Amino acid sequence: MAKRDYYQVLDVDRSASDGEIKKAFRRLARELHPDVNAHDSEAEEKFKEAAEAYEVLSDPGRRQTYDRFGHDGLRSGGFEPGAGFGSIQDIFGALFGGGDPFGGFGGGPAAGSDIAAVVEIGLDEVLEDQMREVSFEAVTVCDRCRGNGAEPGTPIETCERCEGTGQIREVSRSIFGQVVRAMPCDVCGGDGRIPETPCERCGGAGRVSEVRTWEVDIPAGIEDGQRVRIAGAGHAGAPGSRQGDLYVEIRVAPDERFTRQGTELISSVEVPVTTAITGGEVFAATLDGELSVDVPAGTQHGEVAVLSGRGLPPLRGGRRGDHHVVFELVVPTDLDDDQREAAERLAETLGHNHQTGDSSASPTESPRITPRG
Ligand SMILES: [Zn+2]
Ligand SMILES: [Zn+2]
Repeated sequence: MAKRDYYQVLDVDRSASDGEIKKAFRRLARELHPDVNAHDSEAEEKFKEAAEAYEVLSDPGRRQTYDRFGHDGLRSGGFEPGAGFGSIQDIFGALFGGGDPFGGFGGGPAAGSDIAAVVEIGLDEVLEDQMREVSFEAVTVCDRCRGNGAEPGTPIETCERCEGTGQIREVSRSIFGQVVRAMPCDVCGGDGRIPETPCERCGGAGRVSEVRTWEVDIPAGIEDGQRVRIAGAGHAGAPGSRQGDLYVEIRVAPDERFTRQGTELISSVEVPVTTAITGGEVFAATLDGELSVDVPAGTQHGEVAVLSGRGLPPLRGGRRGDHHVVFELVVPTDLDDDQREAAERLAETLGHNHQTGDSSASPTESPRITPRG
């Protein structure tokens, strides 16, 4: 949606005075007040738009920039319109009294934080579903005081500082005059109540840290770095809030024999040059152990044999991928005289005897090096 002109938003003239702008915004804010428009998200959007327009037009410097260069000018001047609309609460508080008009601006008790854990498995373990126990430290509700922080059987007093509300009000000045902001009470930590005798186990905090062990199901086909989420296994939050989640990152230990590409595995196997010429078989390491791989006669260096279904399963189940075996031809370097003659005879029969020059050239002669570039 294109950004509307700020003057249009507030329905004022471009020459409107500060007072007229303020009046226009107050009128709009009243119209869009949530008591009138309960849970109307359109009203909320309109209010944000109006608040942004007011934020700019009520500031002489920004208004001047906007008048000359429009929205782009404000952006290039480093002004982020509506950055952190926490200020809406302040504006409403100033205009109408009371706190958060829409709810949802971080209202409600704080949820528990998430926990990250790491589990490592071997590449061969990706073939099947795995179960692992993972241990981690988590904040949990104290079982001695059940979270109220008081030694069992002792009274709990109302916090004097916040008078049991759990909040203290901080008054500050703003464009509207005084703004009242609610903060969690620093004495009771937002509970509103203080135990007379703090719980022995948690010292009155109502929560303790404990080492927890959880069984994590790891699905076959998991990739390195993927995470398994266990809802509600994270830290306990404030009383009445939901618990955080546990995220278990799965590390798949690299197996130097194989390269993994999703469900496909790639490895190389050495093939004696004679086997490549005549054909035969070699043995290649796979996740299913050593397997015989046919080498067709005339196999070239770098050619690939596909071992169907010897790769890894896809994460959502189904047929295993393939294992690609790359043939690496190995040329013998320690031939005796007989073997070299045999190779030369072979070369002759193939018409490959390219050594047309001085055939007595020493085999130990340094190789010719062609400079590059
Ligand atoms: Zn306790
Ligand atoms: Zn308090």
